[in-house]
Amino acid sequence: ISFAFAFLLSCSNPNEKVSSQSEIDFKVDSVLSLMTLEEKIGQLNQYSVGEEMTGPGNKDKEDSIKYHQLLSGRVGSVLNLLGAENTRKMQKLVVENSRLGIPLLFSYDVVHGYKTIFPIPLAESASWNLELMQKTASISAKEAAASGLHWTFAPMVDVSRDARWGRVMEGAGEDPYLGAEIAKARILGFQGDELSDPLTIAATAKHFAGYGFVESGKDYNSVNVNRQILMNQIIPPFKAANEVGVATFMNAFNDIDGTPATSNNYLLRDLLKGEWKFSGVVVSDWNSIGEIVNHGTAIDLKEASQQAINAGTDIDMEAGAYIKHLKSLIENGSVSEEVLNDAVRRVLKLKYDLGLFDDPYRYSDTQREKKTLMTPEFEETAKEIALESIVLLKNDQQLLPIQSAQKIAVIGPLAKDKDSPLGNWRAQATAHSAVSLYEGLNNTIDENTTLDYAEGVKLSIGPNSFHEKQQIEQADRSGFEQAKSVAKNADVVIMALGETAYMSGEGRSRADIGLPGLQLELLKEIYKVNTNIILVLMNGRPLTLSWEAENIPAILETWHLGSQAGNAIADVLVGNYNPSGKLSMSFPRTVGQLPMSYNHKNTGRPTSGPGMVFYTHHNDVENSPLFPFGYGLSYTDFEYGEIQLNNTSMAIDGSITASIEVKNVGRLAGKEIVQLYIQDVIGSTTRPIKELKAFQKELIEAGQTKTFTFKITAKELSFYREDGSFGPETGTFRIFIGNDSATASFKEFTLK
Ligand code: BGC
Repeated sequence: ISFAFAFLLSCSNPNEKVSSQSEIDFKVDSVLSLMTLEEKIGQLNQYSVGEEMTGPGNKDKEDSIKYHQLLSGRVGSVLNLLGAENTRKMQKLVVENSRLGIPLLFSYDVVHGYKTIFPIPLAESASWNLELMQKTASISAKEAAASGLHWTFAPMVDVSRDARWGRVMEGAGEDPYLGAEIAKARILGFQGDELSDPLTIAATAKHFAGYGFVESGKDYNSVNVNRQILMNQIIPPFKAANEVGVATFMNAFNDIDGTPATSNNYLLRDLLKGEWKFSGVVVSDWNSIGEIVNHGTAIDLKEASQQAINAGTDIDMEAGAYIKHLKSLIENGSVSEEVLNDAVRRVLKLKYDLGLFDDPYRYSDTQREKKTLMTPEFEETAKEIALESIVLLKNDQQLLPIQSAQKIAVIGPLAKDKDSPLGNWRAQATAHSAVSLYEGLNNTIDENTTLDYAEGVKLSIGPNSFHEKQQIEQADRSGFEQAKSVAKNADVVIMALGETAYMSGEGRSRADIGLPGLQLELLKEIYKVNTNIILVLMNGRPLTLSWEAENIPAILETWHLGSQAGNAIADVLVGNYNPSGKLSMSFPRTVGQLPMSYNHKNTGRPTSGPGMVFYTHHNDVENSPLFPFGYGLSYTDFEYGEIQLNNTSMAIDGSITASIEVKNVGRLAGKEIVQLYIQDVIGSTTRPIKELKAFQKELIEAGQTKTFTFKITAKELSFYREDGSFGPETGTFRIFIGNDSATASFKEFTLK
């Protein structure tokens, strides 16, 4: 038994009535009092460590600095080490060799599944199904926890209005309200009710803050947002994350208002740890303390360390900054012991909360790992959420659902691709393990339907490392002719086009977001021989699809849907499931419209009008998006009644009830997502033209009418005002209820 454990046992007094939190605080302080300065700093040091550290002794390992730091308690947490056995060995190394035996935290980016892969987060967000998103996060946690992990660097809650940014695939789209609801669901899923439950893991709200607003969607670029945008668009999901008790926050790489987020006193000390009383851990992003020097606000790593810890960044991920410089910074008084102790306390407390001081090996259980990973039940949920994430963008000639007894041609580089549907950040998934579209169709069609296939064109994988230039095959049209002859003979053509898994994600921003490579050219060629085309898109971001939307009769957005992709898409194509997803991000007509969001503000000019030149507009493209936020079709039709308000005015401490009848006038049952938007007509500052404030997703049977009722209180009308205060302003408000953000009908009421 190590020194720290023995000491702690002797500290517990079972007769003393203390609440468990203060008992933990007491224990944390007890351990802290035993620690040397070096050991304290070690708790703030995080490294990426591979299996080589746990394997049989080899000279390189034993010579390495990291190895000696691990053995002497100079590393507090580790990222990227996976597996019950590996983590157990590493834990043992540290617990048994370091003086105090303080257990390590094992962390990893478990973003949309660990072994069972769910749709990418942007896709899941199109389901608007919070319960299901909570469930997929909880399954991810179960699998990851069984594999020795304690902590995921997810969810990414960055709101973004720019589809060029590769990381939109990791988020929940452009809206702060939907983003906040999804952030809460995912955090509750990962963390469960109790972190001490070994089936749960600690979550991370990232990247705090503003990363989604990198200029021109270029990854790692500067961010230029004003306080209004920061507080009302970017901050809400983070605030919500804190409210549901997220265990950790991660810094953003970018600067905000001229200060890197990692050394940003306002964000970390004043807002997060001050006003919001966040008591968890702030972890830097990968080397983001080192990047402070690149930003040019610190002269060297030492000054960067001083700025970062003083601002409130507790753990240094991979910069090796704290381990090198904190000691002398403390000794010369640039960083106080109090600041250091606060950071260390937070880390120790997380270890307590996870139960690691009771049993450091409780997550690293090979038996549990074997039983838990990728069970049929988890696969079932992967299919369920995949179905709900699919968005029907167009269905003009009722090509969908596909009728039986037809000859189907399946064409395109993604038709038989078993890898791309897994998406970026696929954790422990086996490569090429997803059900492809072709396999899914084969599993699903009846015996009277036939499938024919042609690849048409190759789509190269995209950069496998972050910074490689994208390699897209531009010249090889040799597959076109065969694809055309397959298409010619078919009743209906399914074109599977889009992006491979690594065309979106970190370090994968694109300046042109049309279909990459020769895909559009292939599509146009096929269209010449058969216009009965269903375009099945697989991609990690909104794409520009103007030609496609004008010419192709049916378009289905299926994103990167995870392990069960092909089965889910096939079910939608043949009508076993009626699509119900709605976009969580606008699809622009052309890239020049970006950044774009439905909740933009009024300007001094109208945005539409009778041919006026001096309106707020571009001369070469309409103002509207191609497909707006909240948009998605169904195989049935829903008719919306009139909005009813129970009152024409509301007191600040009162409420108002809005309701609407929605009738399913088609012949199929379907789920509808009814969306409520609010406009604050006159404000002390400029206000968005519309803001999502509530939604409900419900199944409506064919012929059935359902009434949807929403209660509005001051909370839904509040915003961060010029002086930094949060609250509503009296005056006129409009309530819009409809099936997407373009909905125009509203009722007004007055807040008194
Ligand atoms: C990303 C983070 C991620 C970290 C660790 C960074 O490059 O920005 O989101 O959690 O790497 O993998």
